[in-house]
Amino acid sequence: MAKVSENDSNLWHKTCFEQVSAPPLDLDTAVDLVIVGGGFTGLSAALHAAEAGASVCLLEAQEIGFGGSGRNVGLANAGLWLPPDDIRAHLGQQAGDRLIALLAGAPAYVYDLIARYDIACEPVRNGTLHCAHSAAGLADLRKRHAQLAATGAPVALLSAGETAKRTGSDAFHGALFDPRAGTIQPLGYVRGVARAAQAAGARIHGNSSVVELSHQNGTWSARTQGGTVRARALIQATNAYHQGLNTQVPAYVPVHYFQYATAPLPDKLRATILPGGEGCWDTALVMSSFRMDAAGRMIIGAMGDLGHAASGIHTAWVRRKLAQLFPVLADQPLQMGWHGRIAMTSDHIPKITRPGPNALAAHGYSGRGIGPGTLFGKGMAEALISGDEGKLPLAAIGGHAERMTGLQQAYFETGATLMHLIKARIGY
Ligand SMILES: Cc1cc2nc3c(=O)[nH]c(=O)nc-3n(C[C@H](O)[C@H](O)[C@H](O)COP(=O)(O)OP(=O)(O)OC[C@H]3O[C@@H](n4cnc5c(N)ncnc54)[C@H](O)[C@@H]3O)c2cc1C
Repeated sequence: MAKVSENDSNLWHKTCFEQVSAPPLDLDTAVDLVIVGGGFTGLSAALHAAEAGASVCLLEAQEIGFGGSGRNVGLANAGLWLPPDDIRAHLGQQAGDRLIALLAGAPAYVYDLIARYDIACEPVRNGTLHCAHSAAGLADLRKRHAQLAATGAPVALLSAGETAKRTGSDAFHGALFDPRAGTIQPLGYVRGVARAAQAAGARIHGNSSVVELSHQNGTWSARTQGGTVRARALIQATNAYHQGLNTQVPAYVPVHYFQYATAPLPDKLRATILPGGEGCWDTALVMSSFRMDAAGRMIIGAMGDLGHAASGIHTAWVRRKLAQLFPVLADQPLQMGWHGRIAMTSDHIPKITRPGPNALAAHGYSGRGIGPGTLFGKGMAEALISGDEGKLPLAAIGGHAERMTGLQQAYFETGATLMHLIKARIGY
């Protein structure tokens, strides 16, 4: 099985209508705020800072959306991966409640931005379905439902029959429906936010890897091959794709996730599979996801890395999984396959850290970066411009460390590979 290289076979690159011109930095310049990293976090920070009147320069090592922002499933969820009680247990009641309330509004904020800037990113806000793959999965969804409902979230627990009607698959024991959420074309969204940031006055440079960050006499210097940006304030938004800088390296456990897309399905099939257009994922430990795109392609994904020698196991498994969920799709060829790296923290809570004076960094959305990345970028820009850290979604910490990240990564990847291999042996 040939290895899948970075973005060669990424559906989002083939179907993205948004374009953004981001030439490399080729001079020395000075601005109020320099941002490193051109994903949801960095670009949202650039947009909101520029709209607030700050002069902004964003430096991206590759092209806009190269990292997780251009590779993900496109589920614009409300909240974090963790259910509300776990968030409060980690952050305390007050900070937990504040974050839960903020992120409950994250999809609304994202879809408002999309509408305001007319971003071409296939926005569908018909909710998401967290599908129970087993009786134990359904018990977990019941707990999540109770906790979310207690926060006022308009979620509903669906029966197996209703879930079958909505998904077109009878593989599930039930599902948790969240009408606040939806799906987007993630690369279109991140490029659209970049376009909006440019229109607000932000300067955005691609192919401009920051090779050195330093702070002297109240000024940050971000040096690239083509020039240096000096600024009073710095935001680092490099997350799981941090590269080229051996300082301020975000600490996280890398977890790989891959996706495959079919060809556009005929109308007859589209009428029976996800006719309502919800985005879905399941309760399995080695999770999988499925959704449709605007052209009617089925996009199915699961934990695993397509970039190693045993990646054929993942590909073979996803074929069987598709056939198991939707027998009518058993013969549909998988046309495109790509993968990406998720920055997971051990407690599944994102971190805002302080790389130095007048500087903030965010990472570790643990697979929930569309809404949180947008709001964390906004919050960091507002906090640095106003000098009021009360504008941050959660308190900044000096730094964050993770233990044995290599071992934990091996645990996730080996676990996903073994699980997909074992399932092959038992027939799906
Ligand atoms: C396969 C996959 C599926 C996912 N599914 C979902 C989902 O359905 N819903 C959801 O909400 N979230 C999902 N996520 C998580 C989400 O995509 C991420 O949390 C989000 O994209 C993080 O955005 P970011 O801007 O913080 O980082 P990124 O988008 O990773 O951007 C970081 C950028 O920094 C740049 N960079 C790094 N080092 C330097 C340097 N030295 N100089 C300049 N630039 C540099 C990188 O090139 C990169 O472009 C998924 C992630 C993956 C990988």
